[in-house]
Amino acid sequence: MSTDLAPATDPDVVLVGGGVMSATLASLLGVVAPDWSVTVFESGPAVAGESSGPWNNAGTGHAALCELNYTPAAGDGSVDVTKAVTINEQFQVSRQFWSHLVRAGLTGSPKDFITPVPHVSFVTGEAGRTYMRTRHRAMSAQPVFEGLEYTDDAAVMARWLPLVMAGRPADQVVAATRSAAGTDVDFGSLTRLLFDAAEERGVHVHVNQRVTDLERRDDGRWTVTVRDTASGEERTVRTRFLFVGAGGGALPLLQKAAIPEIRGFGGFPVSGMFLRTGSPELVSAHQAKVYGQAAVGAPPMSVPHLDLRLIDGDHSLLFGPYAGFSPRFLKAGSVFDLPLSVKPDNFGSMLGVARAELALTRYLIGELLQSRSARHTTLTAFVPLAEQQDWDMVTAGQRVQVIKRDRATGRGVLQFGTELVVGGEGTIAGLLGASPGASTAVSAMLTVLERCFPDRIAAWRPRLQEVIPSYGHRLNEDRALLAEVRADTMQTLELNG
Ligand SMILES: Cc1cc2nc3c(=O)[nH]c(=O)nc-3n(C[C@H](O)[C@H](O)[C@H](O)COP(=O)(O)OP(=O)(O)OC[C@H]3O[C@@H](n4cnc5c(N)ncnc54)[C@H](O)[C@@H]3O)c2cc1C
Repeated sequence: MSTDLAPATDPDVVLVGGGVMSATLASLLGVVAPDWSVTVFESGPAVAGESSGPWNNAGTGHAALCELNYTPAAGDGSVDVTKAVTINEQFQVSRQFWSHLVRAGLTGSPKDFITPVPHVSFVTGEAGRTYMRTRHRAMSAQPVFEGLEYTDDAAVMARWLPLVMAGRPADQVVAATRSAAGTDVDFGSLTRLLFDAAEERGVHVHVNQRVTDLERRDDGRWTVTVRDTASGEERTVRTRFLFVGAGGGALPLLQKAAIPEIRGFGGFPVSGMFLRTGSPELVSAHQAKVYGQAAVGAPPMSVPHLDLRLIDGDHSLLFGPYAGFSPRFLKAGSVFDLPLSVKPDNFGSMLGVARAELALTRYLIGELLQSRSARHTTLTAFVPLAEQQDWDMVTAGQRVQVIKRDRATGRGVLQFGTELVVGGEGTIAGLLGASPGASTAVSAMLTVLERCFPDRIAAWRPRLQEVIPSYGHRLNEDRALLAEVRADTMQTLELNG
């Protein structure tokens, strides 16, 4: 990785930001357009320093095996699994692409970034159990979720989740589902491996280089202004395609690009905190990722979960997230990020959201005012015998939730997913939002290729299908392909335990 700007003159493609999204797009371009010159600018001193850093996210390979917010209950009690199926299929796309990279010798050992960890959903109370039974019936009817186990037997759960069950009242109603197909992913390590491989094939990755302005030229290309964060020196490069993979920094840059497609969008930053323990005794009693239900009025990204993590060879447990508020769009951002993002074209949307999202406001204030012992009490709902001194608070990444103008009503709405913004006749794309995030990076970046290069995608399809066999297919609708893809990725990514 270089801090020198010199080799970056007028590349075919500029990727802004050194997170998992840019890293994935750089890798995909290596598959479909290996002769294009690609330059990456990262403002921080290293890649994967923001949301893609291992301690800045929860490392869950989101395959919808345990996240209850992907399977909402309707008023009649039925459970909709549509979103869960899509997320699972998207994660299978990531797994296939990572398998290709492993086979091609581009990422070293898969153990450096992905580990099998069972995914469990856990609820208490009669209403929770009824929901869980209905959800299990609906999910296990889908090919991608076949094999999902259900129990409301406390003895079985004590085997699945010793730490969660110890000290629980014997008469408490509990229910859970479990999938052995779950994973923990070190997205920081993956990002570094992808950039290392990209550099080997000639991609220039520059750190300490902040992109400060984007301007469309008369010839359709973009002028990218880059400032060296150490020397303050400023340079410009020209490119014909620009991807703004700047995470929380994407909104201000897309606003600078002044594309009409960004009008009306705003961002609302929510910071996350986790309790962490490295106690070997606790870690050995919890070899799973367990997701519960969000509190009433709480946003989907606040779903509590207790996760086994494997980072740099060390095991630990994370519990959270606890939400916080900071006006910064990046951990290393500025307190002016939020106020400076308010523009005449998004002021209405942002004001509308501030008025409409009273439950969220109340939730955030409640979270902010929580004392250390109140946070510990939240933990004991998951780990009844938890001792405060075993757990430390760590601050995770910033999530900038998307605020968007609803076309039908003209009002601003807060979204918890991701939004790909494409402008300039497909010469610029940027990703806003954070969920389901890094796990679906490959699908998100394939969408960038499809939307920005519609005239080339047909020619690229055969090569993409070679490296991602399910590309263009719904795995849930093709059992033979699903079985083949599963077996292959399990073996290549060494997920058989
Ligand atoms: C608390 C939390 C928990 C999460 N848990 C999960 C999870 O369990 N599973 C999952 O799949 N996803 C999870 N996510 C989401 C996931 O982390 C993100 O979706 C993903 O990392 C985003 O990658 P990115 O490349 O878009 O952004 P980032 O990793 O944030 O990278 C953007 C980069 O752009 C750089 N940058 C910004 N502005 C500029 C500029 N002007 N010039 C140059 N560089 C710039 C930044 O320094 C940064 O390095 C979580 C996120 C958070 C915050």
